[in-house]
Amino acid sequence: MISIPNDIQLHDKTIQFLESSQKMLIGGEWVSAKSGATFPTLNPANGELLAEIPLADTTDVNAAVSAARKAFDSIWLPKITPAKRASLIWKLTELMKRDLQVFMELETLDNGKPLNKAKYDVLGAINHFRYYSGWATKIEGATIPVSSNKLVYTKKEALGVVGLIVPWNFPLMMCAWKLAPALACGNCCILKPAEQTPLTALYLGKLIQEAGFPDGVVNIVTGPGTPTGEAITSHMDIDKVSFTGSTIVGRKIMAAAAQSNLKKVSLELGGKSPNVIFDDADLKAVMKGVHWSSFYNTGQECTLGSRLYVHRKVYDQVLEGLKVNAQKLTLANGLTSPDLGPMVSEKQMNTVLDYIASGQEEGAELITGGARATGELSNGYFIPPTIFSHNDDQLKIVQEEIFGPVVSVSPFEDFEEIVHRANDTRYGLAAAVWTKDISKAHRFANACKAGTVWINAYDLFDPAVPFGGYKESGIGKEMGKSAIDLYTQEKAVWVAL
Ligand code: NAD
Repeated sequence: MISIPNDIQLHDKTIQFLESSQKMLIGGEWVSAKSGATFPTLNPANGELLAEIPLADTTDVNAAVSAARKAFDSIWLPKITPAKRASLIWKLTELMKRDLQVFMELETLDNGKPLNKAKYDVLGAINHFRYYSGWATKIEGATIPVSSNKLVYTKKEALGVVGLIVPWNFPLMMCAWKLAPALACGNCCILKPAEQTPLTALYLGKLIQEAGFPDGVVNIVTGPGTPTGEAITSHMDIDKVSFTGSTIVGRKIMAAAAQSNLKKVSLELGGKSPNVIFDDADLKAVMKGVHWSSFYNTGQECTLGSRLYVHRKVYDQVLEGLKVNAQKLTLANGLTSPDLGPMVSEKQMNTVLDYIASGQEEGAELITGGARATGELSNGYFIPPTIFSHNDDQLKIVQEEIFGPVVSVSPFEDFEEIVHRANDTRYGLAAAVWTKDISKAHRFANACKAGTVWINAYDLFDPAVPFGGYKESGIGKEMGKSAIDLYTQEKAVWVAL
């Protein structure tokens, strides 16, 4: 029996799901790992066991791939029309909406995030499936005028069997970012959630079945990078791997693809995004935006504005405002909907604490935070918002992705300087600029080597807008029309007239 805060009542379906024995979805059957192995998933708010989850190895992944290949060849491609695919995906969104509360509770229990923030994630995932349900019937080719008496047309065809590997920070949303376009394009899928947060993916599997997707179209295997993830990336009969996670694992995935069947790879990786505030910015809007861009999701966000640069004229004012706001943020078990929940795991908490120690050792000035929360929160993996002030962009905390509630703040003087400093990173996922000068804002956006730039805003997303990184932040763009390219291949057909 899991312990929950007083006055909180979990949905009956959440309790039932947690009390049932957890299985993986392979070929339409809910199965244990062939080896019988399991791994625990814990509640990061108190370290308690939530469930034992099957630990898939090569044998289980092989079974999932065979089921997916069979479904692709015998049903999904030949018998299910694009319109039917669209209606199946739409049906799934209705079931997800029905079970919104269950998804929210499972996400909060497994990941730690506040219940009210989990709601945004689940609604975002539903919107994503809705958006791509519309795409299923609109994937078109072209006719191409050639310099001879021939007819040439192109088709966009499904890739076949795709492996989808997702991280733990937005567990359900990341599943949606991959599954929705992959299914809309007509692929069959092997989904692997992160080992820290498998619950919402498994619950989604129940609804995928209820919606009526044919057996084997979506298979869900659970387990860590080794052996489960590696069995996917090195598989000879998987046509593509779509991965979201760290840059270090992204490199391994490219290597595994190269060494196996040269499967296609798309990567959404880490970031170290600059958030730049000019002295002519609307400081009221800045304080609101910067507050969340620095600490949202307890800092476990790939686009986190973890490098904050503030014009020297307003530096003291912004730093003080940021500190005061950070100290007001509430930390608690996510089920009580505080501002911030715990870090996802003890390991992640310790990684972040090590970075904080390195910031102090390297001479950055600690403004607030900096230590694990104590007292009532000491059973969970809580770190309060932490702010460093510094003058050295080569510090480890400024160069490396921390993936926790830690922001480094530094003053700057002029435009050329800040463009150079903003781009002084191996990452290129996102950036933001705050100024009332529209021409300066656009000049900054043009100069910034990042896949997304926000002007006088932060963390805006829409399923229709492509998202992905420059430089070591990734390869390929998810979302919008771009994701259709990620999950199709183009065929040119020549006709002699
Ligand atoms: P991670 O790279 O450790 O793990 C991500 C996934 O990869 C997990 O499912 C894991 O089991 C699997 N994996 C690990 N090793 C593997 C291997 N050798 N082969 C195959 N699969 C393997 O990342 P994480 O700690 O779960 O997530 C945090 C990272 O994800 C951060 O770097 C963050 O920036 C990044 N992220 C990026 C985006 C984006 O859209 N760019 C979004 C969310 C998270």
